[in-house]
Amino acid sequence: MSRSYDIAIAGAGPAGLAAALYLKRAGHKVTIFERFDAPKPVGSGLILQPTGLTVLADLGLLDDILSLGSRIERLHGTDAQTGRTVLEVRYDARRGRRFGLAVHRAALFGVLHRAALREAITIETNVEVETPETGERAGLVCTNGKRLGPFDLIVDASGARSKLRHYLGDAAVPRPLAYGAFWASLGWRDGFDGSALLQRYNKASIMVGVLPIGRPQPGAQDMAAFFWSLKPADAHRVKAEGLEAWKAGVISVWPECEVFTSQIDSFEQLSLARYGHHTMRLPAGRRLAVIGDAAHSTSPQLGQGANMALLDAAALGHALAQANTIDDALGTYASARRWHVRVFQALSLSLTPFYQSDSAALPFVRDRLVAALARVPPGPQFLAAMVAGTVIDPFRRIGLAEFQWSAAG
Ligand SMILES: Cc1cc2nc3c(=O)[nH]c(=O)nc-3n(C[C@H](O)[C@H](O)[C@H](O)COP(=O)(O)OP(=O)(O)OC[C@H]3O[C@@H](n4cnc5c(N)ncnc54)[C@H](O)[C@@H]3O)c2cc1C
Repeated sequence: MSRSYDIAIAGAGPAGLAAALYLKRAGHKVTIFERFDAPKPVGSGLILQPTGLTVLADLGLLDDILSLGSRIERLHGTDAQTGRTVLEVRYDARRGRRFGLAVHRAALFGVLHRAALREAITIETNVEVETPETGERAGLVCTNGKRLGPFDLIVDASGARSKLRHYLGDAAVPRPLAYGAFWASLGWRDGFDGSALLQRYNKASIMVGVLPIGRPQPGAQDMAAFFWSLKPADAHRVKAEGLEAWKAGVISVWPECEVFTSQIDSFEQLSLARYGHHTMRLPAGRRLAVIGDAAHSTSPQLGQGANMALLDAAALGHALAQANTIDDALGTYASARRWHVRVFQALSLSLTPFYQSDSAALPFVRDRLVAALARVPPGPQFLAAMVAGTVIDPFRRIGLAEFQWSAAG
């Protein structure tokens, strides 16, 4: 590295914390600004794919996260009416012992946050940043009017509703997707496959999912992420019909889920997730790098968002280490991530309606095509690479090599 920079990061989510670790370790001065009074994770669970796990291994955090999460070997979906298997994806066995790791969001957040604290990274909380100011050096204006800076570089890791990215002339506002979901973190119950994401569908308008997500922190009980797909616009009606009616609906689709619905006493336990989709054309320039959901957000159907955020952080760290100037580093970062981001955003946008839409035709095709694809080579390998996030190589251009899975024990 030629120089040490003074870098501000907006947002203490997976993207911001991972970027802070890379940049601090490279010798830069790093300050994270987070709008919450205490940094905290949002939502229930997610799957760390071989991509995101490779980044965590590169950061030296793989053992920490492995000790908390649940190894996922396969994704399995069943048609609720016929009981037919309509989705079967296994992580590619030919590549050592690749796997996904389902985690509680608090586990991922805790592992990154503890590492940031160990390395004495400054996290200023209760600071909501609003607008970047750039020129010779960069600054940030907060919602309360306070000015921060000057900095050499601003990293926008403030998530899908970023207020900073517009500064790059990108008018993209996430386009709301028709379907979202109720999510809950509940106690794990035996009788479900502890190494699979299980889903049950009725056409594409109903989807129930159960994901074993391990423990939010060491010593805690094992948990499941439980989700029920619905249109955010219908949430009010569903609540008005009452909890028992909703539970009866879940059980009519998947009777065994009674062990999960019986843990829900109020709609307060269910968070309503809304999904939006946007991809920035150019996520870097003018002393501003946009990473994670701030640069590209989508539905979680393909389970790539947090993994893309971690890859972006690694890519930015690598670009700054390679380039002689901030401008060059921003160009290198944007081009290193361009195709991987675009391909997966396009796959997510085109596949989501097969699983979450009002269409009758798309799930009809899904139930025949995906099931067949899952059986006939190279279909299984393609589906596995799609889920793993490796349809195109995300590693080489950001200076990483995929983790050797056989070393993961
Ligand atoms: C229900 C659901 C399920 C999902 N499942 C998966 C999955 O299985 N696999 C997967 O990889 N991804 C999944 N995702 C997507 C994943 O959660 C996101 O892609 C990931 O959290 C993005 O990380 P991030 O750090 O970019 O943004 P975020 O996690 O959104 O973090 C942004 C941070 O910035 C802070 N912030 C926001 N605005 C400001 C501001 N103005 N000033 C200061 N701070 C600010 C926020 O408080 C937050 O701490 C799922 C998402 C949802 C909603």
